[in-house]
Amino acid sequence: MSNDAAHQRSFATSSPRQKGVTRPRRFVELQRGCSTMSPSCWPRGLFGPKGQRRGMHMSWAPLVTIFVVYAMCPTNALAQWRHNQRSHQLSAMTTNDLVQLSSLGNAAAFRQLLKPILVERIVDTQSHRQVGDYLKSTVEQYGFSTEWDAFTDTTPYGRKPFRSLIATYDPLVPRRLVLACHYDSKILSQKFIAATDSAVPCAILLDIARTLGPFLHQRYNQHITLQLLFLDGEEAFLEWTEKDSIYGARHLAEKWSKAWYPSTNGSAFELSKELDRIDVFMLLDLIGAPQPTFRSTIGHGTTELFIELAKIETALRGIGQLRSVPNAFSAAPNYYAIEDDHIPFLKRGVPIMHVIAAPFPRVWHKPSDNEANLDFQSIYNINAVVRVFVARYLGLTNFGSPTVNNG
Ligand SMILES: [Zn+2]
Repeated sequence: MSNDAAHQRSFATSSPRQKGVTRPRRFVELQRGCSTMSPSCWPRGLFGPKGQRRGMHMSWAPLVTIFVVYAMCPTNALAQWRHNQRSHQLSAMTTNDLVQLSSLGNAAAFRQLLKPILVERIVDTQSHRQVGDYLKSTVEQYGFSTEWDAFTDTTPYGRKPFRSLIATYDPLVPRRLVLACHYDSKILSQKFIAATDSAVPCAILLDIARTLGPFLHQRYNQHITLQLLFLDGEEAFLEWTEKDSIYGARHLAEKWSKAWYPSTNGSAFELSKELDRIDVFMLLDLIGAPQPTFRSTIGHGTTELFIELAKIETALRGIGQLRSVPNAFSAAPNYYAIEDDHIPFLKRGVPIMHVIAAPFPRVWHKPSDNEANLDFQSIYNINAVVRVFVARYLGLTNFGSPTVNNG
C-alpha cells in the first residue's frame, strides 16, 4: 500500500505484554518489591521511642522519605489492583440483552452526532475550537464530567495551542475503561475534512455516550467506569516524526505518569499513578471506509480481549442484528504495530486495543476522505460491536428499561 510508508510504520515494542502469557516488567517488579506494611521498608530514624514524637523542627525529610518509600515499595494493594485489572472478565449477556443493546443503534442519530465534526479541524483554527466545544457539550449532555488538557507545544509552524478533552462518567471511580480518538485533521493543500481520520471514530465515542450513558450508573462493578478521550494534535503538521505527531497523547500520557493516585485493595493503599487507573486503552482510528479489517497487535497485551470483539460481531450477526457487510474484526493478530496516539501509553505499560483499519482506507489523507465515501452499514456494525464490548466490560444490564439515576 502506498500509504504504508508514511504513517503505517513498524514500531518495535519492548517485551511482550500478552495477557496471561508474559507479565509486564512493571508487574514483575512488583513481586520483588518490599511491603509498606513491613518495618524493613520504614525509613530509619523516623520514629522515636514509643509514644514520643519528634519535634516539627526536625525537617521535612522524614515525610518526604515516607512519600518516596510508599512510591518505591509496592504493596499487595497495587499488586492486587493490577491483578484485578489484568484478569477482568467481560460479563455474560443473554440474547435478549444483545437484541436490546442493538436496538439502541440509530443511523439517523449517529449522522446527527457526526455532522458537526465533518468540517476542517486544523489545530488553532476557529472550526477546530468549535468542534472541541461541540464534543464537550455533547458528552456533558449524556452525563459525563469533562476537563481539558490544554497546553502549548513547539511545531514546525511555531508554538501552537492544543487541548485534549477528557470526559469521564463518575470521575471518582478508581479504574477506567478508556475509549480514545483524535479530533484534529491534517493540513492538506486542498480542503480535507478527514471523515475516517477521525471524525467517525469521534462520533462513535459520542454515540457510545448517547446509547450507554443512561445505563452507566447501573453497572455491577462500581470500581470501573468509562472515560472518553478526544485527543488533539495527532496529525503531523509536516512529516510524521516523533516530535511532529501525537502532541495531545504525548502530553497526557506524560502528565498522568507523574500525577499521584492512591490505589487500594480495600484494606491497604499505595500511591501509584493516574496512568495506573487505566485498565485498557482502546483507540479508534481510520474507521468509516468500506470493508475494514481490524486485528489485534502482538505485544499490546490485549489479544484475548480483542478476540472478544470478533466473537461479539459473530454473535450479533448470528441473531440478525448486523447490516449485510462482511465482518470487520478478525481473531488473527497482526505481527506489526502502527504508530498512533496509543504509543506514549503503550510505552508506559498500559494495555492497548488499537482498532484501526489495516490496510488503511483508500481515501487516507486525500480530499476524498469525506462523507460521500463513508460506508454507514459498516459503521453501524462497528458501533454495535464496540457498544456491546463496553457494556460487557462495565457489566451493564437491563437495556430495555433505564432507571433514573438519583445519584
Ligand atoms: Zn491522519
